[in-house]
Amino acid sequence: MELINGKTFWPTTFTSHPHYPVLQENLSCDCLIIGGGMGGALSAKLLTDQGIDTVVIDKRDIGYGSSMANTGLLQYTNDKRLTSCIQTFGEERGVRFYELCRDAMQHLEKISSKLEIDPWFVPRTSLYCASHEEDVPLLEEEYRNLKHYGFDVELWDQEEISAVFPFSKRAALYTSGDAEVNPFRLVHSLFHSASRQGARVYAHSELTHCDYDENGALCYTPDGTVRAKHVIFSTGYETQEIKKDRGAYLQSTYAIATKPLQDLSSWHKRSLIWETERPYLYMRTTPDGRILAGGLDENRPREEQRAIKAVHKGEILLQKIAEYFPLPDLEVDYAWEAVFGSTHDGLPLIGPHPDYPNSYFVEGYGGNGTVYSMIAASLIVDAITGKQNPDMNLFSLTRTSKPSPVQPTT
Ligand SMILES: Cc1cc2nc3c(=O)[nH]c(=O)nc-3n(C[C@H](O)[C@H](O)[C@H](O)COP(=O)(O)OP(=O)(O)OC[C@H]3O[C@@H](n4cnc5c(N)ncnc54)[C@H](O)[C@@H]3O)c2cc1C
Repeated sequence: MELINGKTFWPTTFTSHPHYPVLQENLSCDCLIIGGGMGGALSAKLLTDQGIDTVVIDKRDIGYGSSMANTGLLQYTNDKRLTSCIQTFGEERGVRFYELCRDAMQHLEKISSKLEIDPWFVPRTSLYCASHEEDVPLLEEEYRNLKHYGFDVELWDQEEISAVFPFSKRAALYTSGDAEVNPFRLVHSLFHSASRQGARVYAHSELTHCDYDENGALCYTPDGTVRAKHVIFSTGYETQEIKKDRGAYLQSTYAIATKPLQDLSSWHKRSLIWETERPYLYMRTTPDGRILAGGLDENRPREEQRAIKAVHKGEILLQKIAEYFPLPDLEVDYAWEAVFGSTHDGLPLIGPHPDYPNSYFVEGYGGNGTVYSMIAASLIVDAITGKQNPDMNLFSLTRTSKPSPVQPTT
């Protein structure tokens, strides 16, 4: 699957990144990770922190899957609002999901602060804007629920928003505890650290086949094999080519990076900005003074249309930025289109699957894929090290969700 089309920004920020060899021998290990993106990187880091003998293979160069298209917004709030999570999954599971996201944010910050290669992790606040008047009650209800369950949130009115930003919206949620990151650098930094801790990492080594037995699996690449007690499939959206999940679907999304701008002082605290409209628009800034924006998700265009769409949608994203920040020097520098996976019920897919013995899947589908990858890595490492963690059931690959009435809050 061609995951990305167009010109991505992040690889230009780390041209001297490490390169890894092709697997050309027969190895054995405790855990084989298939996939050298964010999910694989966080899993490799946590496994090697625990001293687990780990091998990683990727069919591309490390970090060149969807993680290179990621715009790097890290948030504890999700595309699916807490209120909606409670409606779909019930109070206990809905709130637990949000708590896990908040904990994962703190975990990401802790890990990032200790890495040798700087992943450009910067704590940020978020502004979640009501796109239309009719969305205001939704935000008010969400505010009450977030507050009620102990999350850090403020409800801003039009006056509060236009006092610190050059645009006006009827209402917005203002949250703390979020962050921005350079996902390409973070992936490389994590693998660099995991390698130092003993992980054996291989690029351009595609998994072609796995044979399972009671001791684990024997996994084949074109020029070598890996015998592993456990296998982690962290193959991103291409997992849908290995094992189709009924609960998942793939679309296209778009993103741009502008040229560096003279003056971003009107951008209050360089917050992460997004909105209630679907498909949505989201924006952030970069340390070198650019604006990154993304969204406009839609059904996947035909292959031959992808490049032209990346440019066209890039222009639309630029116009949308200008509606928020009418800056004189706004210009697209990088524009890309990419495959984007979501789930119908809004939760990622994480854990074992009955058809794949001794294996776990990391499918961090949804706008918060990095946070979900963090949750997945923690849960799977718990499982591999023999710790029972009931939170894994929330993300079961074979789950069915039963709606339950939302609990009223005052
Ligand atoms: C445009 C865009 C913007 C996004 N913005 C955000 C954001 O702001 N914040 C956020 O949290 N998330 C965001 N995401 C989501 C985020 O990018 C993903 O959740 C994340 O990158 C997924 O990481 P991954 O490791 O699962 O997948 P990938 O990075 O795709 O890694 C999977 C790897 O598996 C390898 N692989 C696949 N099959 C095989 C095989 N058979 N053998 C060997 N290797 C194989 C691939 O080569 C690939 O490198 C965005 C996504 C897109 C497309």
